[in-house]
Amino acid sequence: MDTQAQGSSAMTAPAEAPFVNLRDPARRLGPDGKPAVSRRGPMWADVPDEKWNDWRWQLSNRVNDLADIEQILELTDEEREGLSAPDKFRVDVTPYFISLIEPKDPDDPIRRQIIPLGRELHSFTGMMEDSLAEDRHSPVPGLVHRYPDRVLMLITTQCASYCRYCTRSRIVGDATQNFNRKEHEAQLDYIRRTPQVRDVLISGGDGLTLAPKLLESAIRGLREIPHVEIIRIGSRVPVFLPQRIDDELCEMLAKYHPLWLNIHVNHPGEMTPELARACDKLTRAGIPLGNQSVLLAGINDCVHIQRELVQRLVEIRVRPYYIYQCDLVEGAGHFRTPVGKGLEIMEGLRGHTSGYAVPQYIVDAPGGGGKIPVMPNYLVSYSDHKVILRNYEGYITTYEEPTEYTPHDSTGCRYCQNPRPEPGQEGLTGLLDGKRMWIEPAGFEQVHDRGATETHRLKDPSKWVPYGVGAIEGRVAQGGGPLPVLEAGVAASEANGGSGVEPKRVYGPGEEPRPADGQPTGTANHELL
Ligand SMILES: *Cc1c(COP(=O)(O)O)cnc(C)c1O
Ligand code: SF4
Repeated sequence: MDTQAQGSSAMTAPAEAPFVNLRDPARRLGPDGKPAVSRRGPMWADVPDEKWNDWRWQLSNRVNDLADIEQILELTDEEREGLSAPDKFRVDVTPYFISLIEPKDPDDPIRRQIIPLGRELHSFTGMMEDSLAEDRHSPVPGLVHRYPDRVLMLITTQCASYCRYCTRSRIVGDATQNFNRKEHEAQLDYIRRTPQVRDVLISGGDGLTLAPKLLESAIRGLREIPHVEIIRIGSRVPVFLPQRIDDELCEMLAKYHPLWLNIHVNHPGEMTPELARACDKLTRAGIPLGNQSVLLAGINDCVHIQRELVQRLVEIRVRPYYIYQCDLVEGAGHFRTPVGKGLEIMEGLRGHTSGYAVPQYIVDAPGGGGKIPVMPNYLVSYSDHKVILRNYEGYITTYEEPTEYTPHDSTGCRYCQNPRPEPGQEGLTGLLDGKRMWIEPAGFEQVHDRGATETHRLKDPSKWVPYGVGAIEGRVAQGGGPLPVLEAGVAASEANGGSGVEPKRVYGPGEEPRPADGQPTGTANHELL
């Protein structure tokens, strides 16, 4: 009886209201109960919503000159100087993005990314026009082939807005240097003829600013090449022009899977409800999203800003991928930070927040060596049986290596027997096989052949220390008297009167002799292990 009563009351109860997930940033509502929107600049207050939300309207109403920008922001003298410079990198900002700026704050982090300063015109040590030597690695215009299995395909020089620190400011923004159908065909043709290319990264400029038909024909051209496994797009459109991420675009992209996309957000202030909805659409179209950011002085060179940024990204299902050290490109000198700042930020992320929220910190090698990850040291020391590690709090732990380990049997492994070839890249694949690539440090010269003990001699003899490792200038001198200065090309034994006996060295605190090959260092040997 009881059970029946309960059953019938459950049947007559009103249907439960569908669950509304207001925690999802893409579903957030504004005070009016409609989907949340970001601030809109007063000069566009009367623009009807259909226009404001139309990406074509946003693109054709971008602001680009001093007079227009002055109506939106209170400009400083240095910004006026930057905006009036005749030969500057292009300025063009969507009404949506410029509206996010606090008009009275000259240090606003969004403003500093898109409004030029007079300082942009200053040069600095190491500055280059093409700091990644992309032009030298281009077999056909706009295609950069630097790594064994993947290429960068620049399909346009145009962007939705222009970032002052842009690595490719030598071509980006310049409509006279644009890539079009003819260049796309030459790029596709190179990829067709180069079967080791299994990953193509579409960038520019920004591919998502291309006319939809032209974009689709380039993507389809790639998808028709059987050896192209994945297609990736690097785009700042979701940030500058989220209106462009419409259903039509997402349906088009979803036809060409597997396709991945990296967005480019530098500061939590760029994380708007519009961006959240754009990313939601893209992920629903099955496109995994990553974020690439650039470490920029005065914008995001702060552990707390970075932690907020990566956590807000994960909240909209965007995985932080890379944080780049600012390149040595013209116009970007005032954005540069020391590498130590990037390491400090990485220390503040690893262990302190979800692993999903931790990007990799990258220095893109000046001169075109490719991306180099830079990591704080978590590996303190190791010997043949123990590994000393430290955690994010500085706690030191020992990991005991296995006493028995049967090395992988490559003769019975079909992957080892049939490895993917890396034509033209033998130096890199050979690194672990003992085939070394030799990169000469700045200021050093090679005095002997490869493999000899005294390669890389510092050119300035006043900076020479006889036995290198562990001998710290000055401190050695205190204990061991003045340093003998070697002549170029003269071995240490000859400098010591040709007796063949090496001079006896006195080592101060913290200094130690260079261990023989294969031996652990003294510190690891006696104190830690
Ligand atoms: C960044 C880049 C790539 C892609 O590198 P990943 O580390 O695989 O993301 C490919 N080619 C060039 C020239 C690049 O600059
Ligand atoms: S969106 Fe990318 S390519 Fe375009 S200006 Fe910014 S950094 Fe350069």
